[in-house]
Amino acid sequence: MQEIRELVEEQRKFYNFGGTKSLDFRLKALTCLQKAIKRNERLIQEALRKDLKKSNCESYMAEIGMVYSELSYVRKHLPFWDRDKTVLSSPAQFPARSFVRTEPYGLVLILSPWNYPFMLSMEPLIGAIAAGNCCIVKPSAYASHTSSVICRLISEIFPQKYAAVVEGGRDENTELLNQRFDYIFFTGSVAVGKIVMEKASEHLTPVSLELGGKSPCIIEESADLNLAAKRVVFGKFLNSGQTCVAPDYCLVQESVIDKFLEHLIHWTKKMYGNIFENSDYPRIINEKHFERLLGLLNHGEVFFGGNYSRDTLKIEPTILYPVNESEPVMQEEIFGPLIPVLTYKTISDADAFISKREKPLALYLFTKNPKVEQEIMNLSFGGGCINDTIIHLATSRMGFGGVGSSGMGSYHGKKSYETFTHSKSIVKSSSRIDIPLRYPPYGKRKEKL
Ligand code: NAD
Repeated sequence: MQEIRELVEEQRKFYNFGGTKSLDFRLKALTCLQKAIKRNERLIQEALRKDLKKSNCESYMAEIGMVYSELSYVRKHLPFWDRDKTVLSSPAQFPARSFVRTEPYGLVLILSPWNYPFMLSMEPLIGAIAAGNCCIVKPSAYASHTSSVICRLISEIFPQKYAAVVEGGRDENTELLNQRFDYIFFTGSVAVGKIVMEKASEHLTPVSLELGGKSPCIIEESADLNLAAKRVVFGKFLNSGQTCVAPDYCLVQESVIDKFLEHLIHWTKKMYGNIFENSDYPRIINEKHFERLLGLLNHGEVFFGGNYSRDTLKIEPTILYPVNESEPVMQEEIFGPLIPVLTYKTISDADAFISKREKPLALYLFTKNPKVEQEIMNLSFGGGCINDTIIHLATSRMGFGGVGSSGMGSYHGKKSYETFTHSKSIVKSSSRIDIPLRYPPYGKRKEKL
């Protein structure tokens, strides 16, 4: 634990020296990171296979490829984001020039989860580096192979006084949170998010909280039901449902429930077949989560699937139907390959069902009806898709984040840069002209003005 304290002090000294702030330094660091990932690509894929049994294709599509694309985007745009932004001065400031200048926060702590352990450590790191901060990354101990590859990769290219990885579990997390950072970026559960925010408040450290929750997926009767089912199966069972933005449950209009269920089964079979013979289907991260998911499964009515293997920690893509909203599976974020399907009568019923719950991280709507689209898009949620699932986060051109209990703050692309910088508003006043109006004494003449 002494080591953590020393590391933070070392980074503080290095940051104060000022070397991390130049644009040239930051661009070089990002290029180094990109090359190191390229060199270690095979090791990263192997680690993801060991931790979660992810296929190389899924690892590339949902982790490594997204990191490359974020790196390229940030490197290209950083010189423009970095410039002072001139704004019009207000009449009260006349004559003056007004501008906004950014500066890095200083020392950043990134705490990441195990489900996309590489991508969710790297993407915030890219933002922290782009902004000119020093950084400590603490990956989840549950994905220990990926954590050690990240540690090796970062120590290969950066001195630890600039960017370092701390590995370990609860003790290391606690000790890190006891230190004073200038920004904390946390991705994980709501429960731990609250702990992080409480600890951050001791030093008034600003935080981003990228959390989870129950993300609804509404299927309205005008939707292309076949395509809806195909895209729900993709978004739900990717990484065996261990995806923060996975559709947690489906709300299907009563009039189309039978047809939708038929398509859902068809696409589940077609995409996954027999998962016990499918080496590309990821497993559940550990026994604790496996047993938690079996608890939810065994309380529900299995409509399709429901088989599992304790030896391999795999659970079949499973459809639960019918489901009552009071069942255990509707009380917590599922974070596994179980999809409860509920029905509703009118779109206002679906709207009311979602509105009475915590604001979700994601919301998905399948419809061809513009009025329905209008109504549902006015609900409060982190982000989402119309006629698709999960792809809204696969971009550097829009921010990604939650709202309410699904999180605060957003990142990706420019939003990441903004997250890890403080914007200073500066007015440069003229020394040649000095309008006397603002200075006392005010007297009767000024009162009349
Ligand atoms: P978690 O909250 O258990 O852990 C997240 C991180 O916090 C890990 O690094 C872990 O080591 C650390 N941690 C755990 N307990 C801690 C404590 N008591 N004090 C300090 N640090 C602690 O979350 P998880 O199980 O790794 O991930 C699953 C959750 O993360 C789900 O709720 C999911 O929705 C959410 N998630 C959100 C996003 C997003 O972008 N919004 C992405 C992925 C996962």
